[in-house]
Amino acid sequence: MNSLKKTILENTQINEEQMERFLSIQKKKGIPLRDVLIEEGAVTRDVLADLFSGRVYLPFLSLEKFKFDSEIVNLFPESIARLYQAIPLLKNGDNLIIATSEPLNIFVLDDLAVFCRSNIVFVFSPENEINQAIARLYQAGIKDSDNQIDSAAILQERQEPIEKLVDIVLAHALNRGASDIHIEPEFDCLRIRYRVDGVLQDVLKAPKINQDSILARLKTISDFDITENRIPQDGKFKVKSGDREIEFRVSSLPTTFGQKFVLHVLDRHILYEGLEGLGYSEGNAAILKSAALKPSGLILFSGPVGSGKTTTLYSLLNQLNTVAKDIVTIEDFTEYQIPGITQVLGRSNAGAVLRQDPDVVMIDQIRDAETADIVVKAAVSGKLVLAALQSEDAVSGISRLIEMGVEPFLIASSLILLCSQRLARKLCLKCRKPAQIPEDFPEKTVFGSKAKFYISQGCEHCNYSGFSGRIALSETVLIDGDIRDILIDRGSVDEIREYAVKRLRFKTLRDDAYLKAGQGLISLDEAIRITTEE
Ligand SMILES: [Zn+2]
Repeated sequence: MNSLKKTILENTQINEEQMERFLSIQKKKGIPLRDVLIEEGAVTRDVLADLFSGRVYLPFLSLEKFKFDSEIVNLFPESIARLYQAIPLLKNGDNLIIATSEPLNIFVLDDLAVFCRSNIVFVFSPENEINQAIARLYQAGIKDSDNQIDSAAILQERQEPIEKLVDIVLAHALNRGASDIHIEPEFDCLRIRYRVDGVLQDVLKAPKINQDSILARLKTISDFDITENRIPQDGKFKVKSGDREIEFRVSSLPTTFGQKFVLHVLDRHILYEGLEGLGYSEGNAAILKSAALKPSGLILFSGPVGSGKTTTLYSLLNQLNTVAKDIVTIEDFTEYQIPGITQVLGRSNAGAVLRQDPDVVMIDQIRDAETADIVVKAAVSGKLVLAALQSEDAVSGISRLIEMGVEPFLIASSLILLCSQRLARKLCLKCRKPAQIPEDFPEKTVFGSKAKFYISQGCEHCNYSGFSGRIALSETVLIDGDIRDILIDRGSVDEIREYAVKRLRFKTLRDDAYLKAGQGLISLDEAIRITTEE
């Protein structure tokens, strides 16, 4: 009997008959047994946690002096060991003994243990010891791939582990704060990576033999045509994470070794945290909000791809969203869906949108002369337009428009605010430690006496990266009469920048980055890295 079922039957009031019923609900709903038990009120979360905490029913084992057998350790690839915080220890007859520090993962491991064709017995070991053992053992030359064929053959026997594997990957990605999940067929495996804080991280290499069933499962939940393998598809699905409903936007692309999937996490929650929640300083947030309350004009956002412009634009729109205003967005794809806002796909529809007389228009990317022309003319003719384009800094947004053929006098009469943004990785608050600013730091004097610097070494909580979450760095330039005059006189962008720095005491992205470094939110290195032009 599976050890999970056995543990529950032996240690709770649940009888065989009830268990059968719970197992059939589990099959039908495709959710973990623990969730069924909790949903059905059979046990409380606390009882479950207790049951598998190791204190009561799991024997405790310290790994410090344990002599590992590499052949047994090899039964789990490193990725699985890390993912589930678990290491196989020894075989005792038909039993495989596994140490884990995350008792609730037992539910998962129990299924994956089918890999190993054994009865599973769990022992509890402290998290730091598990991690040390994983680092030591796998660095000693045990390779992931050594185990994959075997586990593959077993995975293949049952459909259910595939569904579970996909669920686990989704839950794990959300737990790690991933923004995207990349599922990429390679020559000899199906590679799974997460994008966390803007950086792709390797998570798992699933056996090639399971590729088709994993991709088929993804197609099913994303509502794709399951028989179609040759053309790109896109779709979406939702999962529950705690009390939040999280949407995944899914796209597939045929590649040499099979279809590549990218799952983008849409967490609308962030929009309700406002600009300050994204990391905007009070000053910049206030400037942006007051500009957004103007009845007409152009607010221009610049920044590279992945700098979070769209999220900021939506956060602003969300604040403007009242019945008294007709708001329309024009995008290549809808990143967020907000009730009360009309969302139109395709920039070619921009002209048609404007004929419908909206109050506020958001365009997620100005890429061509035609769109630039429409945007500026709409702003001149009494609409409030929020638009994004790719340029290095706020002031360079003007040169981009001029390059796209917009007359400087039109820019002068429409533009009300320039804004630029970057995303910096926040220091992990669990492991950050005070640090000294280097003696020879050239810009040392910009920091006040209150500045406190930190660095992070990495810990469990941040997956040993030292970072957790991201924060927006921003710069804003309010367009005043003098800047308009420079534009009308066909002055250069450098003149505008010089004026902004000298007269408006304009705070640059670098200033904002230093401010956040001095508050201990980001490291000094990150502040410099993000604001240094390549
Ligand atoms: Zn940390």
